Amino acid sequence: MHEMSLAESVLGAIEEAARAQGFGGVKTVRLEIGRLAAVELDALRFAFDVVKRGGVADGARLDIVEVPGAAWCMRCCEVVPLSARGDACPRCGGFQMQVSAGEELRVKELEVV
Ligand SMILES: [Zn+2]
Repeated sequence: MHEMSLAESVLGAIEEAARAQGFGGVKTVRLEIGRLAAVELDALRFAFDVVKRGGVADGARLDIVEVPGAAWCMRCCEVVPLSARGDACPRCGGFQMQVSAGEELRVKELEVV
């Protein structure tokens, strides 16, 4: 399950930050997740609830910020919205697209206690 390893890497990043910055607990974890990253948010929340137990992030709440997909269309020479990878350009219908946003997967902010 992709979401489980993702939850573990999020927890790893939190633990690392806790060691580096010396905080003892986390209240909120703000995650930035691109719509094109193919992450099931419910599955991720569930997985995080499992892996966080007993650690520094025990009791932390996930606050997920979704980043919409966007791509550079070579025909239109501009950035267009993209709802799924492999979709055609909504303006010209072309497929010469280079994803420019929506693949994010990162911890944006930690609210610590
Ligand atoms: Zn286009």
